[in-house]
Formats: sequence, structure tokens, C-alpha cells
Amino acid sequence: MKINTLPRGGFAERHIGPGEMETAAMLEAIGVSSLDRLIEETIPAAIRLKKPLDLPPAQTEDEYLRRTAQIASRNKVFKSYIGQGYYDTIVPGVIRRNILENPGWYTQYTPYQAEIAQGRLEALLNFQTMVTDLTGMEIANASLLDESTAAAEAMAMQFALRTNKEANAYFVSDDIFPQTLDVLKTRAASLGVTLLQGDHRSAELHGRMFGAVVQYPAGNGEVHDYSDFSARCHEEGIKLSVIADLMSLAVLRPPSEFGADVVVGSTQRFGVPMNFGGPHAAYFATREAYKRAIPGRIIGVSVDAEGKPAMRMALQTREQHIRREKATSNICTAQALLAIMAGMYAVYHGPDGIKAIALRIHGLAAALSEALERLGYRQLNPSFFDTLCIDAGQLKESIHKDAVDNELNFRYFDNSLVSISLDETTTREDLELIIAIFARVAGRRAEEAVPAAEVEARIPASLQRAGKLLEHPVFSRHHSEHEMLRYIKSLENKDLSLTHSMIPLGSCTMKLNATTEMLPVTWPEFCNIHPFAPTDQVGGYMQLIGELDKALCEITGFAAFSFQPNSGAQGEYAGLMVIREYHRDRGEAGRDVVLIPSSAHGTNPASATIAGLKVVVVRCDENGNIDVPDLKEKAAAHSDSLAALMVTYPSTHGVFEERIIEICSVIHEHGGQVYMDGANMNAQVGLTSPGLIGADVCHLNLHKTFCIPHGGGGPGMGPIGVAEHLVPYLPGHPALPPAGEKAIHAVSAAPWGSAGILVISHAYIRMMGAGGLTDATRYAILNANYLKARLEKHYPILYAGRNGRVGHEMILDCRAFKASGVEVSDIAKRLMDYGFHAPTVSFPVAGTLMVEPTESEPQEELDRFCEAMIGIRAEIDEIAAEGNKTVNLLKMAPHTANVIASDQWDRPYARQKAAFPLDWVRDRKFWPSVSRINETYGDRNLMCTCPPPDSYS
Ligand SMILES: *Cc1c(COP(=O)(O)O)cnc(C)c1O
Repeated sequence: MKINTLPRGGFAERHIGPGEMETAAMLEAIGVSSLDRLIEETIPAAIRLKKPLDLPPAQTEDEYLRRTAQIASRNKVFKSYIGQGYYDTIVPGVIRRNILENPGWYTQYTPYQAEIAQGRLEALLNFQTMVTDLTGMEIANASLLDESTAAAEAMAMQFALRTNKEANAYFVSDDIFPQTLDVLKTRAASLGVTLLQGDHRSAELHGRMFGAVVQYPAGNGEVHDYSDFSARCHEEGIKLSVIADLMSLAVLRPPSEFGADVVVGSTQRFGVPMNFGGPHAAYFATREAYKRAIPGRIIGVSVDAEGKPAMRMALQTREQHIRREKATSNICTAQALLAIMAGMYAVYHGPDGIKAIALRIHGLAAALSEALERLGYRQLNPSFFDTLCIDAGQLKESIHKDAVDNELNFRYFDNSLVSISLDETTTREDLELIIAIFARVAGRRAEEAVPAAEVEARIPASLQRAGKLLEHPVFSRHHSEHEMLRYIKSLENKDLSLTHSMIPLGSCTMKLNATTEMLPVTWPEFCNIHPFAPTDQVGGYMQLIGELDKALCEITGFAAFSFQPNSGAQGEYAGLMVIREYHRDRGEAGRDVVLIPSSAHGTNPASATIAGLKVVVVRCDENGNIDVPDLKEKAAAHSDSLAALMVTYPSTHGVFEERIIEICSVIHEHGGQVYMDGANMNAQVGLTSPGLIGADVCHLNLHKTFCIPHGGGGPGMGPIGVAEHLVPYLPGHPALPPAGEKAIHAVSAAPWGSAGILVISHAYIRMMGAGGLTDATRYAILNANYLKARLEKHYPILYAGRNGRVGHEMILDCRAFKASGVEVSDIAKRLMDYGFHAPTVSFPVAGTLMVEPTESEPQEELDRFCEAMIGIRAEIDEIAAEGNKTVNLLKMAPHTANVIASDQWDRPYARQKAAFPLDWVRDRKFWPSVSRINETYGDRNLMCTCPPPDSYS
């Protein structure tokens, strides 16, 4: 007997749904002889890559983990006292295992289908409640990407709200973190705002300023009383934004009390690891009066069809997907999962716990200050929360060296200052080690400065927080681990995720997020690294990011990548700023028009606007393609001012436009650059590429094509790739060696954005190899065309390519059902009764559903989805025949267990049919936890914090 000893089938076979037999059956259903043939009929020959991707060979899951453990070991986990917005924290085990490492939470999508998302909506409402409580503000959103971009969003909101339209100056305190200043510079450039830096105590304020920003505690750790400054701002009509450390607010007077108009910051130290820069959730809180100007997602309480409280995203008319170029910001993907973790940290610890943690951090800092002063050091902050600023004079270098020898990182300024930020993990032993170093270097004995067991607070009474915090019962109810575990589980159970069924959201690529890809994310060598740790401690990260960079360049055909942008929309903004700078550098600063097809995703026009560019919309023809004559006409009309075209490929209609190369060259002829929105990269990898097509810049949604889970609305990563001529303009970062003169300022707080999740995409690429990645694309196209073959008899498919093929997604036209009173949203809600999440509703065409199966779904699941869709189609026909437009299976959907089990039943259809419309639904029933939610009620009666408990009875 001969035995094959080669490695057994690889990861690709598990990632890709259909096996050999299924593939054959699906090809037959489509009516095509082979997968190769299908691809030939789908992707125009002119844009096909001529040779396979040059990538390292595929590794098995086991090989990958072993090699990655070696890479990880090149990161040195030092104790971090660097601070500067990132602090070590203790992730409660029950949160780590049951949220961060739990696909029931991390594979959820943004809660657009609120009836099957009440769990995360409640968790996000807890987050908002926590933020409004600690900041003292009236309303908060459910996260932004990071502290620095949140500060930039605050500036943009203040700018939008200014009453004096001549006012274009923004006061920036000298003492904010450097990365935030850098991100503000980028945003100021696009807004046309002049930043005026100064000391808040002495700065002259005037009416040409529309806003001001200070940090609390300040960048060097000092806690200032901003009351006077705030009053002076308001006298001049200047709105004040405060960047505040959320943990400090448990002991400091909240910014609302000294008149802040906006408060922003990071929630990282609420139980979210530093992750070498991210992901973590930033928060944004303000006055209710500004609710319509707030950026990002806001969760609000409304009522369902039974009149019971139910949550959903509120005030969506502010957002990019509705408002497009007039949106309050371009935020789409935010940091939902991390916001959920931070909110749960407050639920876990409760008011007393949070206060105790904050007080202990402060106490240790005070004790350390005292000890260092006893050793003769000058500690410059008279009042502080967790950060000391020490003038080390001549001793700075010796301290630095001794600290490194002891595996400690402090923050070192250019002058003789050293700062030390303590955190939740700091112990008395840690203090003793720090003291020993400072003593040794000063030639003193550490015994002279034993930290006191009890110290006086170093916050003046006027700045101490009075009154209670986190008073809502949710923060006091779940303190035993059993209670906490069950609370987390009860919320998870309300939410439909990829652990239940396919989520066929077009344009969102809800593919498999493999467990092996996720495992390294929580390895300490990856997650316990400060983003500004010295380069020689992060060899593992540099190798990992380097390998990913190289692979993405090969896949896209680009010359270089920037990993700063934390979402696709941030990638768009970064890419457009790069293009803007390129034109300016060539003496063509007047190029400020961006052509955007009418079918574009809402973030495209929103990003163009925040990049300070003007949007001109290009029409689409009846086949869903860019109307080339219209494009040519508009490119010619704006030839002198053309900055760029933003184009999604394959188009948001799911079609590989044949004329894309011509389209790109038209733009180039008129001096513009081509920005490709890479959200649909899953239909390109290995078969074609943005570089080949002629794009100059492209973002990749690593949380779509490259397997980072969506986390219920984030995290994401939107790195941008650029062609050679744009490389010099890629964003720099103050924590990195100076970029070239042409580089734009930072677009994110951290130099590699949410570096901690890059390992997921790295794993995917390494385990798939060139062949597996290309197959993923081929199978994504197979699965989509199979759905088309099965569904087209029941739903008109809106667009297809020349050979009748769709790309990796397709649009089902539901507009004809309106005659029977059936809206596309009714179909979406009815799908919940069948156990499915709806496809994308009304994007890019109103009244339609866009379906994207991805390569990861096996035929069986695709069939179940088809049966559900076909079942609903039959129900629509029944409704049409019976003529009851208001009380029918679709209008009353979704059906909760409570409704089905009710003792009264007066509806003209059977309960069985409502709850178990198909046989297999019975086995896998997912019960929506609330009935249809009333959207408008919630916006009219806005409530964005946890409702008082009695309102539930
Ligand atoms: C998802 C998507 C975006 C936005 O990406 P985010 O990461 O959510 O900011 C932009 N364009 C298209 C076509 C998309 O599908």
C-alpha cells in the first residue's frame, strides 16, 4: 500500500463553501460548462491578469500559527508607561472570551436590521449611556474611529455650526497629543481652516475663531481648570471642544460642568488592549441641540409594533448613506465591537469599581510623584491624574537606558522631560522598580523613597468630581460572573450573526472569518504593544505588516500602501487628500472637482466633501454602467479643475464594466487621477487588479475582502494603495521617522491604524496562497451566478454583463411588488422569520435588494436562502391575490415568539406559516426579539441613553 505523505488539503478548501460535487451541480444549474468558462464570460478579457499572483505558498492552519508565533516573539512586551492616549488595561476574562473572541459577537453586521440586532444595540446604548454619564454631556454617539479623528470630527462639527461664516480659525491648545495635532492639520487643510496654536491661559480669543480645543488632562498630564477659558470662548461665540481621558473623568469634574460643547476621546483603557494602535472605540459627546450635526452612528430607543421599547440607529438622515455629499461626516464602519467591550467593562465594574480603578491609578501616580520628589527630581505637574512629567535634566539618557534594561517604556520628550503614565495594571511592585531606576541613576538609595501606602489626592478640590456616576441599574446589576456571563449571552442570543446563517449583504462581503485567523489577535505579543513603542521592540509587527504590504501590492498592482486609515471611508479621505496634494505639488491646486457616478456608495461623495473637493455626479446608463458620453462631457467641461474620478469596480451594480480602461484614460487625459473604491475587491483578487485597470489609488476594506470580521459595525481597516507617482504623498505620522517633504499629515491617531487586526488579513493571504485567493474570487462569482440562476425566475435581476453573467453580487428588483403594497423593507423583515439577514436594502438602487453570497457559503446554505426568497415571492403573490395590503405575512413581519404564542390571534394567516414558513426553519428557528420597529417615532422622541428601568414594564 502506498501512502501519500504530502500535507493534507489546505485551508482554502475550508474557506471556500462549495466542494467538487456541488460545484458541478451549480455550474449545471447556471448552464455553463466549467468554472473557467464562467469566469471568461464574466470578466472582460482585456482586463484579466496574464499571470498568477506571485505570493508565498499556502500554509496549513497549523503551519501558519507556528510561524506566526515566531513572528510574534519578535515583539517585546515591555511595561508601557508611554501614555499619550494608550494605556495598558485588564480585559475582564468574561468579556474577552465571550465578546472579543466570540464569533456570535464579532461576525455581526452593522445593526441596520434592528429587530435581529437588539443585543448589540443595547450594548451600544450602554456605551452611549456610559459616555454621557462620565462626560456629563447630553448625547453621545456609538463610536468613532480613534481619539484624534474624533477631535477632527469635533472641529468639523464646530465649523459646520458656526454662525459667523467668515470665522475660519480654530484655536488649538499647545498641549494636546502630537498625533491629534497632526490629524487636525490634515482636516484643517481640507476644511480651509487655520489652526492657531497657543497656551489657553494667555491666548487672545477673537471672533474669527469658530472653535477651540483643549485636552483634559493636558498632553503632559497636567489637569487644568478650563472654566475661565471656557467662559472666554463663549463670550466670543467660540464653541469649545474638550479631548478628555474617560478614566480620569471618574474622578475629575466632568467637562460639561465647565461649559464644554463637545467632548471626545478614546475608550481604549476601558478593557480594550492597546493592540499597537487599535482597534479601539473613540467617543463623541455633545449637547442635544447639536444632535443633527453629530458624526457617526447614534443608537436610539423607539417602540416596536406592539408598543414595546426597541432600539435602532437614530437620526440616520445625517449620515452618508442617505445624505451623501451633505452628510455630517463620511463615517460608515466605526468601532462597534470595541465600543461594546468598553461599555461592558463599565457594566462589569460598575460605578464603584470604575471609581476605585481610577482612584487607585491616581493614588499610585501621587505616590510615585512624592517618591521621585523625595529623590530630588522635579515633577512639573502640580495637579495630575495618572501622568507625571519629570524634568530629568542631565539624567534623561541614563534613565532611558536603565528603563530599557528593565523592560520599561517611558515617554521621552525632545528636551529633558520624561513622562510616566500609570494605568490599571500598575502595581506597587511596578512603582518600586520605577523608583529603583530613578534612585540608581541619581546615585540615591531606593529605600529613601518607599511609596506611601496612603497619599493625598493631587487634584484640587474644585476639579474633583462630585456626585454619583453610572447610576443606571445596568451598571450595578451584573457583578457576579454568572450574572455577567448570562447578560452577555442574553444579548448575543438576540442577534443574528454568521454563526446562524449567511448574511448576503451586497457590497459588504460577509465571508468566513476563520477561527485560525482570529486566534493570534489576542496573543499578548500582539495586543499588549503600545503604538509608540520603540521600533526595536516591534520587529514582529514590522515583519507582519511588511509581508502584508508586499502581498497587497502584488494583489493590487500598486507600488506602496499606507495602513493608517481605519475604515474604507477613511481610506477614501486619505486617498483623496493624497491626490489633492499631488495636484498642489504640481502647481495645479485648482483641481478640486471629483466625478462620482450616481451609483456610488454614500461614503464616496461624503469623503470628497470632507477632503474639500466638489462633487459632480456622472449618470449611469440603463445597464447600470457609467454613462461614458456623460463622463466624457463632464470631464471635458471640468478639464482644468478635474481632480479625480471615484469609481467602484466591479460597479456597485455588480457588473464588470467593459469600458473601464477607456474610462480611466479619459480621466487621465483631462489631468485627473482615478480613485478606485476597492470595496468590491473580492471580485478582482487574482483575476484582475486596480493597477492593471488604470487606477492611481485604491482603498481595500480589509474587513470585507480580507476577512476581518465586521464586529457589528467595526472594527475595520481601509489601507490605501497607490501607484508609484503618488508614493511620496502618503500620510506621515509624528511617531514615525519624518516622512518626505511631500507627505500629507496623519489621517489616524496610530501610525498603522488598527494594527492589531492586520494579522487576520495576513493569515488569510498566507493560508490561501495565490491559488486559494484566486479561487475565492472564482467561487464568489460562481455562488453569485448560481443565486442568479435560481432566483431570476422569481425576481427580475436588474443588471448583468454582456453574457448575462453577474459579478460577485446582484440586484433583485422588488419595485413591481409595490402594486400589492409590498415594500422592499417588508421582504427584509419577512426574511427574519425564515432565519436570514436581509441583503442590502435600496442600495445602490431604491426598491431593490443587493445580494452578495461570497465564496464561503456552501450550496446547501445558498439553497436555503433561495427557498426563503422563493417562499416570500409566493407569499407576495398570495397578498396580491387576497388584496389585504395592511395585515399580511410581510407587513406584520417579523413575528416574535411573544406574538405567535399570544392567546389572541386575529390575523388572516396561520401562526404556523408565520413562524415556520418552511420545514427546515423549525430546526434552526431564530426568533426576532422585537416586532417591527417604528423608525420615525424614535427620531421624534429622541432617547439615546438607557431608558429608566420602569419603562420596560
Ligand atoms: C463598505 C463600502 C464603503 C465604506 O467602507 P467602510 O469601511 O464602511 O467605511 C465604501 N464603498 C463601498 C462600495 C462599500 O461597499
